[in-house]
Amino acid sequence: MFRFDNTYARDLEGTFERALPATPPGPALVVLNEPLAIELGLDLEQLRPVAAQMLSGAKVPEGADPIAQAYAGHQFGGLSPRLGDGRALLLGELIDRDGHRRDLQLKGSGRTPFSRGGDGLAALAPMLRESIMGEAMHALGIPTTRALAVTTTGARVAREGYPPGAVLARVAASHLRVGTFEYFAVHGDDTRAALLVTYALDRHYPDADRTRPALSLFECVRDAQAALVARWMGVGFVHGVMNTDNVTISGETIDYGPCAFMDAHDPATVFSSIDHGGRYAYGNQPAVMGWNLSRLGSALLPLIDPDPDVALPLAQAALNQYGAVYAKAWRAELRRKLGMVSEDAGDDALLAELEALLAAHHPDHTMFFRALATAARGDAAPLTALVPDPGPLIAWTERWRARVALDGAPTARADAMDRVNPRVIPRNHRVEEALAAAVAGDLGPLERLMDAVTHPFEMREGDEAYTGPASEQFTAGFQTFCGT
Ligand code: AMP
Ligand code: MG
Repeated sequence: MFRFDNTYARDLEGTFERALPATPPGPALVVLNEPLAIELGLDLEQLRPVAAQMLSGAKVPEGADPIAQAYAGHQFGGLSPRLGDGRALLLGELIDRDGHRRDLQLKGSGRTPFSRGGDGLAALAPMLRESIMGEAMHALGIPTTRALAVTTTGARVAREGYPPGAVLARVAASHLRVGTFEYFAVHGDDTRAALLVTYALDRHYPDADRTRPALSLFECVRDAQAALVARWMGVGFVHGVMNTDNVTISGETIDYGPCAFMDAHDPATVFSSIDHGGRYAYGNQPAVMGWNLSRLGSALLPLIDPDPDVALPLAQAALNQYGAVYAKAWRAELRRKLGMVSEDAGDDALLAELEALLAAHHPDHTMFFRALATAARGDAAPLTALVPDPGPLIAWTERWRARVALDGAPTARADAMDRVNPRVIPRNHRVEEALAAAVAGDLGPLERLMDAVTHPFEMREGDEAYTGPASEQFTAGFQTFCGT
């Protein structure tokens, strides 16, 4: 049923450890992502009856070659030289309907040689959370790993309250991370690092300049991650744990732990219970990605050139461009959100003023851009209702309306904006409510939430309940957890 073609296990000996998934006592399917299964070329009739077994680790599918991948990583700025898949196993690679190679990984499938003190397991709520967030991001058009399935194991895990254990079957363009390259740099293994550079370029950046592979890879990841973070910033997404082991080489969002979407726009927004210093706050994400890329550059130095005096300036020059690459991606993102097409001399000032206004007045990030489109259609009431002192935002909006009028009829501009600015995002109170119900055995709220967040741009009846922010009281007490 799965036509695996496992290049990582076959060609990169020494970059992983073989291991087998733990056998769950009573696997049961909670979520099966059928559209994704179809995308992967799987036969639904064949898959449905065996999904709980095959996607929980109960039965290793034929052709799979389960491995735990090695990686290191900087966690909150400090180097952990050996992390690796401590509770995950790559089952293998599938070629999807579009000819793209995709990893199929189990997460929460038991201990591996990288587990250190951990139990290798996962609880149901965090795995469902990853599934909701990934599908929401995908529907928003943002590169992401995705959940193919979530199964409960039939056993409870030792976390607060002994919640049900679960396994997430995750699909990714690959699971290569910045931390993968750091691992081989820490261990001084230039041979394997060079093989991984070739592998990463072949798999993700086949058109890159191969006369200087390591530098090319660095530039490609820089550009992909700059583009990704700009998209996060556009939808108000806070990843929450941007450690270098959670930064992909492909440019996909990965490892949805304590992540959340912010309601009120505030650059200082932090949800994670362990991010005391606000290192991974909403407004810090672009800068932190720059820092993470500096770690990748360092790890690649010996491959960029064996002579450090040659390698360092090359890597530095590539890194120095990150600021400009990000700024360009963010400008494009904001212009798209604001319905701007042509370039006008005053645009940059208009964008900068908006950023300052959003940071000062804290309107709901998501509702703001929809309300702006409504204002373009002639109704400023929703915009006025978003903040206690709407005067400055309204004054800005008048200037913006005059500006976008250069790009065509206001209603056409507003329609274009509604196609890129979501009406529905996974609101925190809705996510928590759906998870609590699912853990208690009621999947109704989860299914309704999934349906809403996978149609983010549409005006659908019944979705009103998913469009508004949580109460101030909820948000004041809201914290997210890694769930590990
Ligand atoms: P994360 O914070 O999920 O990105 O994980 C960081 C590291 O901790 C990775 O190497 C994980 O494999 C490992 N890890 C997290 N939770 C567990 C667990 N329950 N058992 C073993 N390893 C874990
Ligand atoms: Mg991780």
